[in-house]
Amino acid sequence: MVALPGVGDKLASVLKKKVGNYVIDLLRHLPVGVIDRTRRPNIPDIEHGSMVTIEVLITKHDKPPRQSRRPWRVHAENETGHVDLIFFRTKGDYVEKLLPVGKRRIVSGRAEWFQHNVQIAHPDHVIDPANPSLLPLYEPVYPLTAGLTPKSIQKAMQGALDRVHPLPEWIDPMIKARFQWPEWDVAMRKVHQPQKPHDLMPGSPERARLAYDELLANQLALALVRQESSRDQGRVFAGDGHLQRQLLDSLPFTLTGAQDRVIREILTDQHGTDRMLRLVQGDVGAGKTLVALMAMLNVVETGAQTALMAPTEILARQHFMSISKMLEPLGMVPGLLLGKMKAAEKRSTLEGLANGEIKIVIGTHALLSEGVDFHDLGLAVVDEQHRFGVRQRLVLGEKGQIKNQQTGERQGVDVLVMTATPIPRTLAMTAYGDLMSSQIDEKPPGRKPITTTSLPIDRADDVINRLRTVLAEGKQAYWICPLVDESDVLDVQAAEERFTMLKAALPDTNPQLVHGRMDASTRDDAMESFRLGQSKLLVATTVVEVGVDVPQASIMIIEHAERFGLAQMHQLRGRVGRGEDASSCLLLYKSPLSETAAARLEIMKNSNDGFKIAEEDLRLRGPGEVLGRRQSGDPDFVMADLAYHGDLLQLARDQVQDVLKDNPSLDGEHGAHLQLLLALFERDLAVTYLAGG
Ligand code: ADP
Ligand code: MG
Repeated sequence: MVALPGVGDKLASVLKKKVGNYVIDLLRHLPVGVIDRTRRPNIPDIEHGSMVTIEVLITKHDKPPRQSRRPWRVHAENETGHVDLIFFRTKGDYVEKLLPVGKRRIVSGRAEWFQHNVQIAHPDHVIDPANPSLLPLYEPVYPLTAGLTPKSIQKAMQGALDRVHPLPEWIDPMIKARFQWPEWDVAMRKVHQPQKPHDLMPGSPERARLAYDELLANQLALALVRQESSRDQGRVFAGDGHLQRQLLDSLPFTLTGAQDRVIREILTDQHGTDRMLRLVQGDVGAGKTLVALMAMLNVVETGAQTALMAPTEILARQHFMSISKMLEPLGMVPGLLLGKMKAAEKRSTLEGLANGEIKIVIGTHALLSEGVDFHDLGLAVVDEQHRFGVRQRLVLGEKGQIKNQQTGERQGVDVLVMTATPIPRTLAMTAYGDLMSSQIDEKPPGRKPITTTSLPIDRADDVINRLRTVLAEGKQAYWICPLVDESDVLDVQAAEERFTMLKAALPDTNPQLVHGRMDASTRDDAMESFRLGQSKLLVATTVVEVGVDVPQASIMIIEHAERFGLAQMHQLRGRVGRGEDASSCLLLYKSPLSETAAARLEIMKNSNDGFKIAEEDLRLRGPGEVLGRRQSGDPDFVMADLAYHGDLLQLARDQVQDVLKDNPSLDGEHGAHLQLLLALFERDLAVTYLAGG
């Protein structure tokens, strides 16, 4: 970046922080607006606050202001009227040189009416009419961040654009011809030189082409990951089914049709010689845990080990408890591995993993840390995957960081990814590429629909009175307080205050509090008391968002619902509606609601369908947020707008498949062009997968 003309060290360091370290990062920083400097109104017709360009004769400079707070005023006029140009805190000779009395100048800037006069403060441009081309007629407006002025970013951008040269074409010529897309360099220049707001819309051929580039790079990277991983030797896991049968026999219910189908899809993978990489999608409450456990038991029947990894300690413990209970009739005891646990406990788990005594282990990402050695790991199940960085996790599986003493590191561990948030198809493709996927698209029978309503938070007293009645009847409720970030002290305080208040108001219900910043044993005690029904009211932050399963709880109250995303609210709501009772969800919001927040609450009230909600989420918030971009570093599209360019994604995927079918290592000329594309857009993966050639 430092190498760009007009970009000094200081600006370079700001740019590096805000837009990235490479010229391409700067180029992907798109204008958000355009200033039209072609409008040359007559002075009396100027609208207050509008952007204008006028040619004027400079007639007079007022006496220099004595107080620095007063402006330097320059008088100017043309045949249509009079205008004042004013400058604050400017040195006199600068203004005098810029606007010499008796000369004509083209002046462009935002005009205002002030005491019957038009005035322009600090015009953006002052040009000698002898050189009219110095005035940019259409000026792109870039999103500004601290430390960047419009001038500095434009200067840097100009430098970057000067470096844009024709590149060899990586797009399939048929596709390019079909849409009449321009070359990469032409498109890139064009998107930085919009002429009207319409040019900034995703529908232009230039934007579409650049969007396709991004999607192609994404699909290519994912396909390479997958190709690389399936090169690993897979293993055949064909258990005799005795444990699976015992489990099914011990359950008080039968599998749903969808569970049965997905289990068979997984078994087919496990029986095959290729390494399994499968995504299981299912709305909350669809019964994913049981599906995972069946897959794990199949592996255990062959003598190998399995691990289930959850994104939080709470969830890992929860899985541990419910799976322990399910394994009891089989006479099996799972292991538990968390980052924070007693040294002795940890040591015994580690021993059991290393000597192969523990067949099923449940844990957090602690499972991946140094010093965790498996005797013979055959299957890794990753639950609630969207909480992890999606792609990172996928790659991680490939890296074979889960060590395998028996078989050596490279032998492929099967990976089963379970996602609770239904991901729209387009997003699933960008996040997982070609991962095989299974849908549990049916819920266990007898689930009653959840009635969702909303109320402003000032009605909390009414809500508490109502709660008093229904909790006295024996019902159980969650009261969720927002916690955006585990480290947000204020949010923790707010949750604690709400808890204190509810404890005072509803002492008979034995309220309990759980949040991510309390120690594990206190938290577990609170959860356990709620699970056993000793406590009727669980005040919690979003730590209960995923996985928590207390079937008899039937009331969900979400406070500050306006602060939650749709997917998250749906997850939370999914904590109820699991048992016999009709369930309800109450969204308490702080008014006034923003337009999107109001739209979100409406969608929640009208739909219980996770897929529909996820699609709406995508529409309202954009893909990065749906997957939690900041935490996960997931698809970070700038040019592509998945809500708009979804069809291009399919095309990009087809092109990738065509290419890799004949040319898996991207050899030859076209291969080199695609490698260049990867190097531009997917640097990390390109380095990982292509560095060796
Ligand atoms: P999720 O898909 O959200 O992870 P869980 O696996 O936690 O769902 O299952 C939700 C609840 O449904 C659990 O209490 C589980 O025991 C129960 N369950 C799972 N499968 C069935 C089924 N086929 N019939 C009835 N209940 C089931
Ligand atoms: Mg679950």
